[in-house]
Amino acid sequence: MTVAITDDDAAIAAALADAHIPSLLCALVHLTGDASHLRDYPRPAYTFFGDGQGDLDAAAQQRARALGVRLLGELRDGKRLPRRPSADDVRTAMDFIAGADIPAHYAPFLTEELALDGPHARDARVTIDAPAAAKAAFPVIVIGAGMSGLLAGIALKRAGLPFTILEEHADVGGTWWANTYPGCRVDTPNHLYSYSFEPAADWPLRFSTQGLLQGYFAGIADRYGLREHIRFGVRVAECTWHDGAWQVALAGGETLTARAVISAVGQLNQPRLPDIAGIGDFAGPAFHSARWDHGVDLTGKRVAVIGTGASAFQFVPEIATTVGALTVFQRTPPWIAPSPDYHAPVAGGKQWALRHIPFYQNWYRFWLFWMLTDGILAAVQRDPEWVGEGSISAVNAELRGMLEEHIGAQVEDRPDLLGKLIPGYAPGGKRMLLDNGVWVEALKRPNVELVTDAIARIVPAGVELASGRVVEADVLIYGTGFNASKFLTPMRVIGEGGQDLHTRWGDEARAYLGITVPGFPNFFAVYGPNTNIVVNGSIVFFSECAVNYILGCLKLLVEDGAQALSPKAAVHDAYNLRVDAANATMAWGQPGVDSWYKSASGRVSQNWPFALVDYWSATRVPAREEFEIS
Ligand code: NAP
Repeated sequence: MTVAITDDDAAIAAALADAHIPSLLCALVHLTGDASHLRDYPRPAYTFFGDGQGDLDAAAQQRARALGVRLLGELRDGKRLPRRPSADDVRTAMDFIAGADIPAHYAPFLTEELALDGPHARDARVTIDAPAAAKAAFPVIVIGAGMSGLLAGIALKRAGLPFTILEEHADVGGTWWANTYPGCRVDTPNHLYSYSFEPAADWPLRFSTQGLLQGYFAGIADRYGLREHIRFGVRVAECTWHDGAWQVALAGGETLTARAVISAVGQLNQPRLPDIAGIGDFAGPAFHSARWDHGVDLTGKRVAVIGTGASAFQFVPEIATTVGALTVFQRTPPWIAPSPDYHAPVAGGKQWALRHIPFYQNWYRFWLFWMLTDGILAAVQRDPEWVGEGSISAVNAELRGMLEEHIGAQVEDRPDLLGKLIPGYAPGGKRMLLDNGVWVEALKRPNVELVTDAIARIVPAGVELASGRVVEADVLIYGTGFNASKFLTPMRVIGEGGQDLHTRWGDEARAYLGITVPGFPNFFAVYGPNTNIVVNGSIVFFSECAVNYILGCLKLLVEDGAQALSPKAAVHDAYNLRVDAANATMAWGQPGVDSWYKSASGRVSQNWPFALVDYWSATRVPAREEFEIS
């Protein structure tokens, strides 16, 4: 909902100094009523990690702002009203802001995202047309009240199905409740990392910190009346399919019954301690980043950090200034990508534009969405003909060169660090981290040492290296990630015929579209196997797609009065073959690169290797013929 403009022309001009010009120009299409003014500007040309203005030169930007001041002034003065541009003009604007001719098959998917007809909910598309008694007889249990579980709750509420959300923590937010380490923040821009139907124009930071995100999800739980459906502090021990329903046993001994279960426990919820000898021997306090012990004062202490993934990358710079000495143990360096505004507030003028310019928010979100629709997917795909060390294609090598330059520029004064900070694997092999310089700055501090020698064992006094050197420490922090490929653990899931889901999976979790598994009727997962995205999209989008699909499955069940639905084994198996074949061509699927994307066997069990539009298309409506329905 935009707020009426009361500012004078000078204030509007000042605000537009911060505006995203391609979004502004597209928003102005709604004031002029056509897209003809876009012809006066070169089509934006975006580059990897550019400033987002699409290389529009200063003069073009100034013309756009001047046009904005005039049209918005007229809007303020009641001389102009927002108009609905024609479909062709919307399409012209979409191509303009994208800086590309958007392929035809992307158009419906992107038009939905643009949401010109008002805030939309991908999950609200599904209505269940059944008598109240049929709905009442179909209680659903959702496990987890994080981003995906809340989404499921909103959709179930809209569809009129009774539901309970079981959450082991004391409040909502999932990962944004559990991870409280210093510096914790998202790395997808928040104007995109938010529900499509709750875009929240007023994000104060481009990439919000943990507290803001937890607050956002708490606000959602309140606004959508979800809290009365949530039981906090309960852990699901086992789900058993019995007599056409799920028996959900809680760790405390209670058992609940549901006709369907939606697991929304996330992929990164089980902290992983490293398999290093002597791990219990350390004499001082030791904790994992996802279980940060705020009772331990690090001031002036000798602190050892194991791991240099996304979590350590965020908390190391935060603690480096207060600890006495900091030793960071790195086994493999991460690729880091320039993102100068990573910690920046959203500029006041941009906030103003988001609040006051009709449709600016739609276009700005659309632009973010487009930039990440395919992201740098093409740059992390292997070219089978390519021969080269540490890269998998020409464009991947080009990306590598840019990233190397970015790292190199930061350590010109510390050549000893250069070799330690440039990864050997191809960009995209592991999670790439957004970098505004604070990581290397921290590593260059006189009280910080980056150790790359192998760790032999943990000893009471600290960390012993293979060389025999012992790095003494008062506090040990594990930034060693999560048991991501052990999906849905530690709970047990027992399906038809007493089949244990984890026995079926062994080391390689698989599901159809990451959501359903043959033999496990009415059991659905959000953010399940192979639904993690790496260099494109927002995981919120994926959850919205999955929840929409799950509601579609529930619709089939309730409207048909059916008891059970699970995917046909042939459908599931063929799909997984396609996923495996595609993942084998991606940077993260290459031999010799280990990460949380792979299970112990080496199968990529986390990642979605296709485009975003493919998941959107696949999850719009469940195809009845793909299921066994009884
Ligand atoms: P991670 O990326 O899995 O990193 C774990 C780190 O621990 C790696 O550097 C790993 O080294 C090291 N390690 C593990 N076992 C070790 C051992 N035995 N000896 C020495 N080093 C060891 O975990 P994370 O940093 O918690 O991040 C996990 C994911 O969470 C991220 O990829 C991201 O998706 C998400 N996350 C996102 C954000 C954000 O939005 N900014 C922040 C935090 C986390 P190797 O690489 O050699 O295995």
